[in-house]
Amino acid sequence: MLASQGKLIVVSGPSGAGKTSVMRRVYRECRVPLVRCVSATTRPPRPDETEGVDYYFLTDDEFQLRRQRGEFVECFQVFSYNYWYGTLWSEVTPGLSAGKWIVLEIDVQGAREVVSKFADAITIFVRPSSREELQRRLRGRGTETEEAVLRRLARADGELALADRYKHQVINDRLDQAVHDICEILTQEWEKSRHD
Ligand code: ADP
Ligand code: 5GP
Repeated sequence: MLASQGKLIVVSGPSGAGKTSVMRRVYRECRVPLVRCVSATTRPPRPDETEGVDYYFLTDDEFQLRRQRGEFVECFQVFSYNYWYGTLWSEVTPGLSAGKWIVLEIDVQGAREVVSKFADAITIFVRPSSREELQRRLRGRGTETEEAVLRRLARADGELALADRYKHQVINDRLDQAVHDICEILTQEWEKSRHD
């Protein structure tokens, strides 16, 4: 494990489970001071996304160059044959040294890699209430083509099968409850860390 004063919090869950919606409120409402790690991706921005806030949007060439330079803590082609996503060391190291709690909203492969490097990372898996609801949410979001929706749904079963590897699981049925549950988990972890 690498030495660190801060802590990493890893949040995963199938695409469409509601990670972004839940975490957006957790950042505002949770008493624990959290910093959101901005990932890099080769996926094009959605209409409501901002460079440097939601993601660093890179071209394939830029991403591969930075990968070769060892700039990523972890990076993967999340939806197999198209887009790359990765966590930059520059988003993590300065915050950890400053004692920050940094949240990584990343997929199950990335989570595994992060835990292998930071064994004390707190892991949280966000589940949808059912597969049907997951489909409804993915289609309802209206950001993906039908082909991309199907690809994301096909991946969901594999991701759900790995949920038991996470320290905490939260069902995002009602948004308020999921936000409350994650705040509770983080508050308890925060208080525990002060007594360690
Ligand atoms: P993810 O980040 O996991 O891919 P999003 O946060 O983008 O998921 O949520 C996917 C869609 O589901 C969005 O349209 C969002 O508004 C909706 N959504 C999220 N959580 C809930 C919930 N608890 N109930 C109903 N709809 C939800
Ligand atoms: P989206 O395209 O919907 O923003 O994200 C798709 C998937 O990529 C989600 O499961 C999300 O958690 C994951 N993801 C986002 N950033 C990263 C990252 O930096 N690394 C990894 N491994 N996955 C990421």
